[in-house]
Amino acid sequence: MPALNLAGRPVAEQLLARAAERVQHLPRAPRLALVRVGDDPASESYVRSKDKKAHQVGIQSEVHALAESTSSAELLALVERLNADPGVDGILVQLPLPAHIDEEPVLLAINPAKDVDGFHPVNVAQMWAGRARLNPCTPAGVLELLAFYGIPVAGRRAVVVGRSEIVGRPMAAMLLGRDATVTIAHSRTADLGAVTREADILVVAVGRPQFITPEMVKPGATVIDVGINRTEVDGKGKIVGDVHPDVAGVAGGLTPVPGGVGLLTVAQLMANTVTAAELRRLDR
Ligand code: NDP
Repeated sequence: MPALNLAGRPVAEQLLARAAERVQHLPRAPRLALVRVGDDPASESYVRSKDKKAHQVGIQSEVHALAESTSSAELLALVERLNADPGVDGILVQLPLPAHIDEEPVLLAINPAKDVDGFHPVNVAQMWAGRARLNPCTPAGVLELLAFYGIPVAGRRAVVVGRSEIVGRPMAAMLLGRDATVTIAHSRTADLGAVTREADILVVAVGRPQFITPEMVKPGATVIDVGINRTEVDGKGKIVGDVHPDVAGVAGGLTPVPGGVGLLTVAQLMANTVTAAELRRLDR
C-alpha cells in the first residue's frame, strides 16, 4: 500500500484558524514587526508572505525594509526601539543579513519574549530544558503535522537527519520533549542507512535532493521531508525534497514536497506571534 500523503495544507489551515480564534480573545490585535535588510529577492518574498498571512489572521504586522547599506549599529538601534515599544509583541529579523552585518549580535539583541522565531539562546535553552515558550517554527510545524494525522510520538524511535540550528537540533529537542527516543544523524554519521532504518519517525533536513532512498526506511515508518531543493528538470525549475519519491512505496506516511512541511513554517510563525502576545499579557 502506498504511504499516506501527509499534506501540509490542512494542518496549516487549522493552525491559522486557531491563531485567528486566539486573537479574538486578546484585548488588542498582536503586533508583529518584520525586519528585512537589503534587496535579496527570496527574503523580500518571505517577508511579503509573512506580512500577508499575519493580516489574514488579524495580526497587525509592519515591515521595516532597510537599505543594503544599513550598518549593524543602525539595525541594532531599530531592534532596541522595537524591544522597548510596549505595543510590539513579536520581532522577526529575516535571515540572511547582508555580509557586512554579523547576525549573532542582532539575534542576541532581540528581547527573548518577543523572539517569535525562537532562535534566541534563552528560548533555545528553555526548549532543551523542556520548558519552551517560543519554539522555532519549522520543527514546531512538524509536531503540529504529526498531531494532526494522529501519529503517536511518545515511546517511539525518532531519527532526525541534519543538525542545523533552525531545523535538526530544535526538531530533536522537541521530539524528546514529546517523549520520543531520539537519534540525531549528520554528515559524519557512520552507516546512515542502518540508523535511519531504526526510525519509526524519520525527519530529514539535509538539503540534498532525493537523498533518502527506499532501502534507508523501515517499512511503515512516518517520513517527514523538510528539504526544499531548487533543481532543474527538462529546463524547468522544480522543487524537490530530501526524500526520494520511491520512499512512498515503503513508508507508512510521507510529506510531499512541495505542499508538505514548507506550508507550516509561516502558519506556525502566526501561532508563535499570538503566543508571544498572550505570554506578555500574562507576565505583566
Ligand atoms: P543546513 O545546511 O544548515 O544543514 C544540513 C544538515 O544536513 C547538516 O547538519 C549536515 O551535517 C547534514 N548533512 C549534510 N550532508 C549529509 C550527509 N551526506 N549525510 C547526513 N547528513 C548530512 O540545512 P537546514 O537545516 O537549514 O535545511 C535543510 C533543508 O531543509 C534544506 O533543503 C532547506 O531548504 C530546508 N528547509 C525548509 C524549511 C521549511 O520547510 N520551511 C525551513 C528551513 C529549511 P553536518 O552538520 O555534519 O554538516
